[in-house]
Amino acid sequence: MRLASIVVLFALGAFTLVECQQDAAQECDPEACQLPTCRCSSTDIPGGLDKRNTPQFVILTFDDAVNSQNLETYRSTIYNRRNKLNNCPIGTTFFVSHEYTEYNGVNELYNQGFEIALHSITHVSNQTYWREASTETLMKEFSDQKSQMAHFANIPINRINGVRSPFLQMAGNATFEMMAEANLRYDLSWPTMAHRDPGLWPYTLHYQSIQDCFIPSCPTASIPGPWVLPIITWQDLEGVACSFVDACFYRPNLDDEDGWFRFILMNFERHYNNNRAPFGFYVHEWFISRNVAVHRAFIRFLDMLNNLNDVFMVNANDVIDWVQNPVPIDEYVRQPCRVNPPSPCRLANCGPLEGQHNSVSYYMRVCNRCPRNYPWLDNPLGL
Ligand SMILES: [Zn+2]
Repeated sequence: MRLASIVVLFALGAFTLVECQQDAAQECDPEACQLPTCRCSSTDIPGGLDKRNTPQFVILTFDDAVNSQNLETYRSTIYNRRNKLNNCPIGTTFFVSHEYTEYNGVNELYNQGFEIALHSITHVSNQTYWREASTETLMKEFSDQKSQMAHFANIPINRINGVRSPFLQMAGNATFEMMAEANLRYDLSWPTMAHRDPGLWPYTLHYQSIQDCFIPSCPTASIPGPWVLPIITWQDLEGVACSFVDACFYRPNLDDEDGWFRFILMNFERHYNNNRAPFGFYVHEWFISRNVAVHRAFIRFLDMLNNLNDVFMVNANDVIDWVQNPVPIDEYVRQPCRVNPPSPCRLANCGPLEGQHNSVSYYMRVCNRCPRNYPWLDNPLGL
């Protein structure tokens, strides 16, 4: 019995060793790794720019299903805002999960110029499932979701570039191997605490990453192609790290508008006054709509940003564009505004549709013909 365990352990150890030898990426060589397709993980400003000439990007994201209720918050909070210096509409990225999403809402967000990105078909609340997912499973969850999103929301498939793993639980190399295979451009799931001040700029995985990994597993192999857009964690009032604004533990009282405004500003300034790594405001809609004072503080913050001369609120995908071609602010403001080619929605109300996986009756709104079954893993178009 004991001997058997030792043999098994030895076999596992040997396997891991072999795997490491095969896979492990090498230390980054800045001479060999050059923009636009390769970048070492680093806190250096891309293009060797001076801080004063570097746009401060702000990335706002909302996660999970899009429905008519949270659409109301989006309409009242982020529609019709512009960045002051180039007068371009602000960006926001939506990491949409499939279950209960109303796709006419996704179409509306897209037509407002916002970015639609992937957050899985099932979003099952089982951390182990996501940690141990194979490339094949992840292809079904994300690559199939890309086709599903394009189909039901009627948006161009090549405008779907981003990925966020549910619960920020990546599956190590498998996540990025899936992205390379599915032609997905960037991931926004990997938090860093160690590279917060100064912050880590986006980079590729041709070479070994310097980023800390506190939700294992993180990629270790050389995987050319996809970009890592690190989640630079906030610090709460006691200095504890939080990846999502709604997950900060020691936070101002939820009815303290001034406290929340100062809290947001404190975290923003760590970026703005330092190496200007993109500042993330990652949140779930319910947190803003449920807490009026937080909502007000958030709008004050957006108003303040709209008036700063070197701050640009953009889609996450636009940040990768800039990193690939880093230009100083005065040149950046002369670039044309990003536009999403308009794409109409021919609304269809569908249901009840039976979920083949759980026998639940679903209703869904789509910008296409109604599916026969509720779309799910292995049948993303509900044929
Ligand atoms: Zn989620």
